[in-house]
Amino acid sequence: MLSSIFTGAVCAQCRNCCIFEEQSAWELPTFCKAAAERLRDLPQYRVQEENGRYRITLPYDESHAAQRCPFLDPSAGCTLPADEKPFACSLWPVRLMPDADGKPVPALYQGCPAMPEEKLPALRALLDGGLRDRIYAEAACDPSIILPYHPNYRYI
Ligand code: SF4
Ligand code: SF4
Repeated sequence: MLSSIFTGAVCAQCRNCCIFEEQSAWELPTFCKAAAERLRDLPQYRVQEENGRYRITLPYDESHAAQRCPFLDPSAGCTLPADEKPFACSLWPVRLMPDADGKPVPALYQGCPAMPEEKLPALRALLDGGLRDRIYAEAACDPSIILPYHPNYRYI
């Protein structure tokens, strides 16, 4: 979705996506039923239905080591078919977070090296060109894409 302004080479070096430190587990998106059912025989993942979406609890242990999304193949990337991949994943590093008045607003994760300051005008142009409306339409169907504000993000 943001591929027109992304630099794939930066991602290839970073490879930070789809891997979640325990304190970042809240950033793992919710999933559709078909995706959740792929975990049926993997008891290490707790899956809970939440308003028609499915929330996955990653299996952190005493080591608190970062955990991969269960659908990430480290060498091949995301293994979910396009129609099961969460909208939120396609939108990364942009999220929807409430502003001071409680209105959900697009916010950019500040730790993504593929989206430096100089790319903000292109990102804002994408938002103004229809992406913002698309995000709000998704949020109307799936409010789980609205996350609590976190200082690692800046409103755009
Ligand atoms: S954090 Fe940004 S640069 Fe790193 S892999 Fe994810 S999208 Fe690419
Ligand atoms: S569903 Fe795919 S893109 Fe989304 S976090 Fe998991 S592996 Fe990454």
